[in-house]
Amino acid sequence: MLVVMKQSASDDEIGQVVETIEAMGYDARPIPGKQRTAVGLIGNDGRVDSARLEGLQGVLEVIVVSHPYKQVSREWKAEDTVVTLPNGTRIGGREIAIMAGPCAVESEEQIVGVARTLRRMGATILRGGAFKPRTSPYSFQGLGEEGLVLLARAREASGLAVVTEALDPEGVELVARYADIIQIGARNMQNYPLLRRAGQSEKPVLLKRGMSATIKELLLAAEYLLAEGNEQVILCERGVRSFDTHTRNLLDLTAIPVVKSLSHLPIIADPSHGTGIRTKVTPMARAAVAAGADGLMVEVHPDPEMALSDGAQSLFPEQFQELMDQIRVISRALDRELVPGLPEPAPMGV
Ligand code: PEP
Ligand code: MN
Repeated sequence: MLVVMKQSASDDEIGQVVETIEAMGYDARPIPGKQRTAVGLIGNDGRVDSARLEGLQGVLEVIVVSHPYKQVSREWKAEDTVVTLPNGTRIGGREIAIMAGPCAVESEEQIVGVARTLRRMGATILRGGAFKPRTSPYSFQGLGEEGLVLLARAREASGLAVVTEALDPEGVELVARYADIIQIGARNMQNYPLLRRAGQSEKPVLLKRGMSATIKELLLAAEYLLAEGNEQVILCERGVRSFDTHTRNLLDLTAIPVVKSLSHLPIIADPSHGTGIRTKVTPMARAAVAAGADGLMVEVHPDPEMALSDGAQSLFPEQFQELMDQIRVISRALDRELVPGLPEPAPMGV
């Protein structure tokens, strides 16, 4: 339930609404907007007496949010959420943010080298898994904390922000210590203890769509994060299961405009896991930007043939450069632009 205040409502009147909601036994969350403030009532069990709120000074109207997801909905907040990272990258506004990097962190040379290359090519966020959710228990599982240390070193050397996955609730704090964005992978989209823990973090969260999750389930998973108080959430379409075997997954580009109409949260696309095949990544990356994605997550490896995971879907750096040039043009056609590139950082230790 949402209590929309009049434009002229005073701070005292807003405070009175908050107090009344709390006295009724619910949580109140003021949502300041450009036009007017609203106060969200959290935990509505269907027994809320809206007349009690409607009668308070300064209240314009009380809206019952019709979707099962509340705080992620456009009804709750009409304005787009913009997530801002320490290096100045904004995700969810007019700019399109590019996250790129290898599937997994493999060595210092690999991750620092590729981070420097990606910065030169215009990316502002480095991806790379330290904890890898592999289909087979015998596949490379990632370097663990050492991988996080190397990601932090790559950030220092390149200026790129870092996004990396937390696999379980216990891992959230550790990942948050090193990363700028905590990634929740497709396999974990409905891991509710993990969502709750990430929702308690101060760091933004990238939530990937489960491989057979509906858009409603994705938004309800995001609701867990917001319900715990973390409003810095970025959604990611990464392909869903399909009957066709020509690609690894079916990148559901329709999800982008659908999510944009239902939610104020930014949504990016991952054409790498979405297709699983290098030659399909660039066309789908272009299409995702054209469909209105707020960013991309693309796997790029300095030597894809030697990659310890997902080499077949990883772009060569030169291919990534070409992709950047193309999406710059597509963004402009949509009256958007790529997040401005970062300057070269001062040499380490200076
Ligand atoms: C990843 O981005 O590293 C990853 C494992 O992707 P997903 O969770 O979408 O499979
Ligand atoms: Mn991968």
